[in-house]
Amino acid sequence: MAKRKPLIAGNWKMYKTGPQAAELASGLKSLVSDMMGVDIMVAPPFTGLGIVAEILKGSIIHLGGQDLFWEVEGAYTGEISAPMLKASGCTYVIIGHSERRQYFGETNATVNRKIRAALLEGLIPVVCIGESEAERESNQTFSVVQKQLEEGLAGLTSDEVKKLTIAYEPVWAIGTGKTATTDQAQEVHEFIRARMDTAYGSSVANVARILYGGSVKPENTSDLMAMADIDGALVGGASLDVNSFSAIVSLSIDAATDKA
Ligand code: PEP
Repeated sequence: MAKRKPLIAGNWKMYKTGPQAAELASGLKSLVSDMMGVDIMVAPPFTGLGIVAEILKGSIIHLGGQDLFWEVEGAYTGEISAPMLKASGCTYVIIGHSERRQYFGETNATVNRKIRAALLEGLIPVVCIGESEAERESNQTFSVVQKQLEEGLAGLTSDEVKKLTIAYEPVWAIGTGKTATTDQAQEVHEFIRARMDTAYGSSVANVARILYGGSVKPENTSDLMAMADIDGALVGGASLDVNSFSAIVSLSIDAATDKA
């Protein structure tokens, strides 16, 4: 089995003012300072990026944007570009989160444009895919995920796809307290890796980092992270609490060590 360093990413969504984000980032910085063998990323709201970047200087925690627009600059009121994220200290950007798809009209086509914009700037896209509850119940999980991958990654080269992180987030598990069972998550992760193998070859599929997201908390971290094709987590609610998030990081390191 290829060894992939896990990534634990915290999506703060539309929570935390600048000062609150600063407090959360400071607390986290000291709690995870000696944790090795894992990559950690937090994605505060845009208004918190500057202050959080300052606080995270010299720490092992990476900074991410929650979204971006594909143009570099221009008359696009309210939007943020890849160079702006980069200049704010970001190395990652979340793209195609189900809340963006659900409330803001994001499609696989816009996801594709955003991935290209992020890659041009050297940002690591964390590309979110996943089925709704109705789609799962009507046995469409694999076809939905396949379409999101095919359309979202359309036209990208193997070298470009190698730079992506994929986050499988079943929509019915996000913010609901319902988590996919380890078997449900693993079978979709395995499917995603197999699709990537078919489309881009094993040298891409073996290194591709595929995160699970959907009500990850300390109580379910070890079991999820023990699964062969789960390489980390995208964490919403539990990333807003320093103790929960640092516990998820620590448990993921243990799981990765056991898997190696
Ligand atoms: C998310 O925001 O991507 C997420 C998975 O949220 P939660 O952990 O709260 O379900």
